[in-house]
Amino acid sequence: MIPFLDMKPIYAELKPELDAAYARVMESGWYVLGREVEAFEAEYAAYCGTKHCVGLANGLEALEFVLRAWDLGPGDEVIVPSNTYIATWLAVTAVGAKVVPVEPTPAGPNIDPDRIAAAITPRTRAIMPVHLYGEPADMDAIMALADRRGIKVIEDVAQAQGSKVRGRRAGAIGDAGAHSFFPTKNIGAYGDGGAVTTDDPKLAERLRVLRNYGSRVKYVNLERGYNSRLDELQAAFLRVKLPKLDAWNERRRAIAARYTDKLAGTPGLGLPRAPQWAEPVWHLYVVRTKRRAELVKALDKAGIGSLIHYPIPPHLQEAYADLKQGKGSYPLAEELAETVLSLPMGPQMELDTVDEVAAVVRATLS
Ligand SMILES: *Cc1c(COP(=O)(O)O)cnc(C)c1O
Repeated sequence: MIPFLDMKPIYAELKPELDAAYARVMESGWYVLGREVEAFEAEYAAYCGTKHCVGLANGLEALEFVLRAWDLGPGDEVIVPSNTYIATWLAVTAVGAKVVPVEPTPAGPNIDPDRIAAAITPRTRAIMPVHLYGEPADMDAIMALADRRGIKVIEDVAQAQGSKVRGRRAGAIGDAGAHSFFPTKNIGAYGDGGAVTTDDPKLAERLRVLRNYGSRVKYVNLERGYNSRLDELQAAFLRVKLPKLDAWNERRRAIAARYTDKLAGTPGLGLPRAPQWAEPVWHLYVVRTKRRAELVKALDKAGIGSLIHYPIPPHLQEAYADLKQGKGSYPLAEELAETVLSLPMGPQMELDTVDEVAAVVRATLS
């Protein structure tokens, strides 16, 4: 059996350090917004190369709260990828703004800057590129478009912690970066967690107020805020994991390279290819084939896990039926939804295991 992702090896590897972090927090008697969160925020900001980091309850609220902090709402438009996980869209509609979907580049999977220009209107307030599968979006082109027009850029870094564009970390290029520490992400907590990275002190301060009932000083409420805090235990666990992130991403790179090496030339199989300027972190290794159903069946039979990221694009979800963007509205996103397949990937995976998976894929499609 080869699972799609096995979370247990990392726990086994880090158990003594995680146990120590657990004991430290439990014995401190302080569990929300304390020293661990503060320390993690400083360490994660330093890692990403930003002046500030604000810990939040999850990645979705990290995206959403940045839009709230910029006072976006009804009448405002936010450009989002047509090809993404639904969280990206949910953050925009949660504040009452309008999603303006833009198709991916022909090579995929990320938003096509050439198509962004055509989608900009006088109401466009923000662009929300997603670094899908750990592959950075074309940030230089996006920032050039946005800066010229005074439009804000918020990066969805949920799948790309540690990735770089021409030497700069994802999350440090736009006006803000939203991160998720859901357990399966490249750096994940043991529960939910999220953060925003930014160089903007005003944005960071507003986020600190918004996450804590709209208050800076206890029981003094400056605005109607929320409860969205990264907790001390999760922050302490993340502090154990952060120093390992680069090495884990390096392992993911080796695994991706091995897949590409073993799968090259397989008939009817599209392989992921990151642009020259990008340093991806391979959250997922996603192939494309019109014979997906057959391939999933063969992998299943061989005891190999695989997943589809994602089978239904946001515009075709029941949740967005009211937008009346039916089938055919975003054909590139729809084609990806019908052909993508994620193969097993994780920093703990052995190269021999990669070879086993690749052999089944090749045999099935040849
Ligand atoms: C996981 C994910 C999110 C949301 O993160 P949560 O912490 O689960 O709320 C947002 N965007 C993308 C692209 C994701 O993969």
